[in-house]
Amino acid sequence: MRVGSSATGLFRGASNRFGLDYRAEASALGAPSVPIIDAHLHVNGTRAALLLRDCCDLYGIERLHSMTHLEQLDSIRAVFGDRIEFIAVPNFADPDRLHAHTTGYLDRIRSFHREGVRTVKFWAAPRATDIAIEAGSPGSLGLGAPARVDAADLAASLGMRFMVHCADPDTWFATRYRDSAIYGTKRSHYEPLEAMLERWRVPTLVAHMGGWPEDIEFLDALLLRHANLWLDTSATKWMVRELSQHPRDELIAFLDRHRSRIMFGSDTVTSDDHLIAMDGKTEMAAKASDEREAFELYASRYWTLRSFWETCWSGPSPISDPDLAMVDPIRHGPLDAPGIHGIGLDAERLSWLYRGAVEAFLAA
Ligand SMILES: [Zn+2]
Repeated sequence: MRVGSSATGLFRGASNRFGLDYRAEASALGAPSVPIIDAHLHVNGTRAALLLRDCCDLYGIERLHSMTHLEQLDSIRAVFGDRIEFIAVPNFADPDRLHAHTTGYLDRIRSFHREGVRTVKFWAAPRATDIAIEAGSPGSLGLGAPARVDAADLAASLGMRFMVHCADPDTWFATRYRDSAIYGTKRSHYEPLEAMLERWRVPTLVAHMGGWPEDIEFLDALLLRHANLWLDTSATKWMVRELSQHPRDELIAFLDRHRSRIMFGSDTVTSDDHLIAMDGKTEMAAKASDEREAFELYASRYWTLRSFWETCWSGPSPISDPDLAMVDPIRHGPLDAPGIHGIGLDAERLSWLYRGAVEAFLAA
């Protein structure tokens, strides 16, 4: 069976626009050339985790690195055993959001460390700017803010690696973050990041292709300037939309230059809220309402990413991408999707992307 040939053409939701059979598609792709390590997930909810495990088994995902809530480490470990390791994250459920990301995070980092966790996430998306403003403390969640310095000092003293969410898509800076007086320019978010890379010199993973898959020339220079920097390819919709824009030979040359520093990730988020229908869900919870939809939500990410990296499959993405309508509401609706142009890496390059780079990061 050819990749994509199970499509029925019948719309089955935002994760499956053409009615693909994601189980049959997994066998069409076959086992990956090496078992995959997914370096970027958010696994929560035991029942949802079981569905994700099913998808991982189908798509050859052997190991997972997950930003799981501290309170759920045991229950998620019970599902994945030693296939999973965790990354420390702030308590996003804390109603005092400023506290969760500042002083509260110090205790949280110590607790994760006691659980054997050795990577700390610094979430500095532009949306953190809003949280700081709403809390009456503008600027306090920038990557260079004193509370961040304290957390980085603590993490470094505990021998932990860093992971950073530094910037969002160009599409967001063109719309919701257009006001640079509030959010700064996209480029300005890299100044405190580079200061951080210089100051602590610990292995640092910057998520979502460093936040700038739109500009691989910029990433190339950033990687050359900082030997302690790694990137993950997570955030499926964003990555396949933007990486498909680059000429194949340029993207491959970029990957070749930094092959031990660019690792596979999906940014799949699981939640038991995906298994129930109810009103008033958050945007993330509303992505699925029963087991079938949740399975397709999780499987669609692996199908799309593996098809992009491993094949020269070309066609519209099976996953709706609301960014198209956000940028151009006249031409696009919220269920539209961009074209994907797979780059068909060979087995040697895939082995770096799927395992070699993350192993180098863990060993650094
Ligand atoms: Zn993420």
